[in-house]
Formats: sequence, structure tokens, C-alpha cells
Amino acid sequence: MADLTGRVALVTGASRGIGAAIALRLARDGADVALTYSASPEKAQAVGREIEALGRRALVLQADSADPAAAAAAVDLAAEGLGRLDILVANAGIAIQKPFAEFSLEDFDRTLAINVRGVFVAAQAASRHLPEGGRIIIIGSNLADRVPRAGATLYTLSKTALTGLAKGAARDLGPQGITVNLVQPGPTDTDMNPADGPRADTLRSLMAIPRYGSGADIAGLVAWVASAESRFVTGAALTIDGGMSI
Ligand code: NDP
Repeated sequence: MADLTGRVALVTGASRGIGAAIALRLARDGADVALTYSASPEKAQAVGREIEALGRRALVLQADSADPAAAAAAVDLAAEGLGRLDILVANAGIAIQKPFAEFSLEDFDRTLAINVRGVFVAAQAASRHLPEGGRIIIIGSNLADRVPRAGATLYTLSKTALTGLAKGAARDLGPQGITVNLVQPGPTDTDMNPADGPRADTLRSLMAIPRYGSGADIAGLVAWVASAESRFVTGAALTIDGGMSI
């Protein structure tokens, strides 16, 4: 357990999957939590109700990360609605996977709009609210370090861009006492990458621990990065992938 009592977090893309697990873990550890979604209002509201059942405040916001104005506004609304903002978890992301020759420019633009521009906009907006001790935690991917299979060029391109974003922002915000870190999951059982999906056996064969992670596994690391204990870690890429990258 991390002690996040009195903290306020915003988790983007938290209606399902890893984001939902992070939102609930931060709430269990004491934080009030705002969350965004794009297309799943019922699921997002259900996560909000679970947060409230834990005795925390929840704020559920529809905000498409592909829309920079909406992505920035969600940060401001979270800070205003819950009174402050201590932790941003930029989790919302998509994975368009195709053979290299089949990617369209629309695929390229959409991938970068959500996975990179949306993260930049949210982090920049958050930097205007975060106090000393603030945390920006970006969900990248272990593919930024090693690409062991085909079809993931655009996704990998976008997640690798986050390495530069985290390092640059860590330099800029360090003097304010704000840390910026990447958490890079490997195969994690969600709608994006189901443990019984077509790529699952191949992925498991590449891992030192040959099983999918759960959202809770990723959320545990995020909770530690969100806590005061991580204060000396910034600009880091923390990979959590069952040893797939080694
Ligand atoms: P899911 O597809 O299961 O869930 C994605 C979440 O992001 C949903 O809550 C979805 O909301 C939200 N979202 C998607 N597009 C947008 C958007 N345009 N604006 C706002 N929210 C959006 O994905 P995962 O939980 O698996 O992935 C979460 C993060 O973890 C992503 O950044 C992903 O790249 C990363 N990751 C995942 C891995 C895995 O194996 N699962 C491995 C490595 C990294 P809605 O329900 O409204 O669509």
C-alpha cells in the first residue's frame, strides 16, 4: 500500500483495463480520483461508483484524448472539481496493428494524436496545477525497448516518443519538485491485449515469467511512483513486463 491520503489524481482512459485498475488502486490507497473516458460512459460511471464505495471522491469526465482542447480541459476540470491535483496518470492509448505497408496516414495521425499529443497536452496542463511533490506518470510500453514481433510500427513509434517526452519534461519540472516517469507494461490482460487473444501464446513464449500481467500488477507500480517514496526517481522508464524485454 502507498499512502496517498489527501491526494488528488487524474487517470486518463480509466473506464476499462489498466486505467480502471490504476484509478481503483489509487483510491484504495487514499486518493480522490478523477477519470476520463472516450466512448464507454457506463463503464466509466461504474468505476466512479467503485471509487465512491471506497469512501473517496470521484469525478468522471468524458474527454477524447484525440481532442487537445478536451484533453487539457479535463485536467483543469479535475483540479477545479476536486480542489487540487497531485498526480496525473496519462494512460489513455490505442494500438492500431497492421502490416507496415497497410498503415494509412489516418492511422498515423490518430495514433500520434491519442498516444503522444494527448499525453503532452495533459502533462502540460497538469504542470500548471501540480504542487511540489507532484507526479506525472505516463503509461508507455515495453515495446519502446524491444520490438519482438511484426505489425506494431505505429504503436511502437508512439510509445518511443513518450521516452523523450518524459525525459524532457523531467528536466523542466524537476526544479519545481515534480517528477515525470514512464511506466512501461508488457502483455497485460485487457480488451487491447486479451490473454486468450491471437498474439497471446507468442507473447508468453517471449517472457521470462510466461503469463500475462493484470491491471492490478501495473497499478501497484503506478501507486508506488505516485507515492512520496519515489521522490528521487524522475525521467525513468520503469518496465514491468514479466521479463519480456530482457
Ligand atoms: P484498453 O483498450 O483495454 O482500454 C483503453 C482505455 O483508454 C479505455 O478506458 C478507453 O476508454 C481509453 N481510451 C481509448 N481511446 C481514448 C481516447 N481517445 N480518449 C480518452 N480515452 C481513451 O487498453 P489497456 O488498458 O490495455 O491500455 C492502457 C494503456 O496501457 C495504453 O496506453 C496502452 O498502450 C498501454 N499498454 C497496454 C498493454 C497491454 O498489454 N494491455 C501493454 C503495454 C502498454 P473507452 O472505454 O471510453 O474507449
